[in-house]
Amino acid sequence: MTKAFGAVTEHTPLVALDIERREPGAHDVAIDIAYCGVCHSDLHQALGEWAGTLYPCVPGHEIVGRVSAVGSEVTAFKVGDTVGVGCMVDSCQHCSACDEGLEQYCDEGFIGTYNGATADAPGHTQGGYSQAIVVNDKFVLKVSHPAEQLAAVAPLLCAGITTWSPLRHWKVGPGQKVGVVGIGGLGHMGVKLAHALGAHVVAFTTSDSKREAALALGADEVVVSRNPEEMNAHANSFDFILNTVAASHDLDAFTALLKRDGTMTLVGVPEHPHPSPNVGALIFRRRTIAGSLIGGIAETQEMLDFCAEKGIVADIELIDIHDINEAFDRMQRSDVKYRFVIDNATLNA
Ligand code: NAP
Ligand code: ZN
Repeated sequence: MTKAFGAVTEHTPLVALDIERREPGAHDVAIDIAYCGVCHSDLHQALGEWAGTLYPCVPGHEIVGRVSAVGSEVTAFKVGDTVGVGCMVDSCQHCSACDEGLEQYCDEGFIGTYNGATADAPGHTQGGYSQAIVVNDKFVLKVSHPAEQLAAVAPLLCAGITTWSPLRHWKVGPGQKVGVVGIGGLGHMGVKLAHALGAHVVAFTTSDSKREAALALGADEVVVSRNPEEMNAHANSFDFILNTVAASHDLDAFTALLKRDGTMTLVGVPEHPHPSPNVGALIFRRRTIAGSLIGGIAETQEMLDFCAEKGIVADIELIDIHDINEAFDRMQRSDVKYRFVIDNATLNA
C-alpha cells in the first residue's frame, strides 16, 4: 500500500488514503516521491470545479523524486537517479502529435498523471500527493539541479513547462515587450522565464501586495490591473501576453494592450467561461487570442535543463501534507508566493 492524500467527494476536504501502485513493468520506472507542487489544476479537479472528476481523486502533477526500481527494458534511468514527472504519464505514442514530441496534443488524448484512464486500480490514475508512483519511462524527466533545490524544482514540471512552451512557441526574446497576467504559480514562472529569455517583462497583478515582489522575480514593470490608468498607459504596446488567471475575467482589458498582430495566449482554465471578447478589438489590429496546453516531454526536458543551467527554480512555501486543505483555501484567495510544495516525507507521519 502507498500512503496518499486525496478527495473522496467534491464536497469534502482532502483526507489520508491508501492507494495501490502497480509493480513496474518492462518499460516502467518506480519513483519514491520527495516533493510535489500544488497546482491550481489540482484544486479545480479535486473540488469538482471541472466536469468529470473521478473519485477518489489523488491530485499532484509536479513530482520530483528518486528512482527506486526500473523495468528490464529501461536504459535511460537507474535506481537512485533524481527524476521528475509532470502532467502526463502516457499517450498513444504513434499519432502525428506524439511523433512530433507534442504528447500533450495526442490525438487519442494523453493520460494525465491523475484522473486519466488506466488499467491500474481504481481504474483512473492517481497523482503525486502520495509516497510513490510508477510511470512509463518515456514520461520521466531527468533532474540535474542540486539536491538542496529539489523542492523548488517540483513546480517546473507543470508551472514551468506550461509557461515555457508558449513563450518558446511564440518566439519570445530580446527586443519584445511581454506581459504576464496573474502572478501565481504559473505566472511567477512566466515572469522568470520571459526575463531569462531576454524580453522586457511587465507583470499584471490584482494584488497590490505583489507589486514589489514581482519586480524581484525579474519583471521590468508591474501593473495593478484593477487600476485603469495604469492599464491605459500600456495600450497597443505588447508583442505577446501570457494570461495565467485561474478565474473568469474581462479579456478585453488585455487585448487592448496588444500591438497590431500581437497575441494573448490563455493558459488558465477557469471554472466559469470568460465573457465573450470584443471582436472589434481583435479585427482592427489583427490581434490573436490563443491557447496553450502544458508542453511535450522533450520540451519539458529542454526547460528543466535551461533552468538548471541558469539556476532558475520556483519561489515556494514548503508544506506538510496535513496542511493541504488550508493551502487550497489560501490558493483560492491568491495568497501564496508563489507555489505550495508538499514535503512528501510528511505522508509517513
Ligand atoms: P494560482 O497559483 O492560483 O495563480 C492564479 C493567479 O491568477 C492568482 O495568483 C492571481 O494572481 C490571479 N487571479 C486569481 N483570481 C483572479 C481573478 N478573479 N481575477 C484576476 N486575477 C485573478 O494558479 P496556477 O496554479 O498558476 O494556475 C493558473 C490557471 O492555469 C489555473 O486555472 C490552472 O488550472 C491552469 N493551468 C493550465 C495549464 C495548461 O496547460 N493550460 C497547466 C497548469 C495550470 P494576482 O494575485 O497576481 O492577481
Ligand atoms: Zn498543473
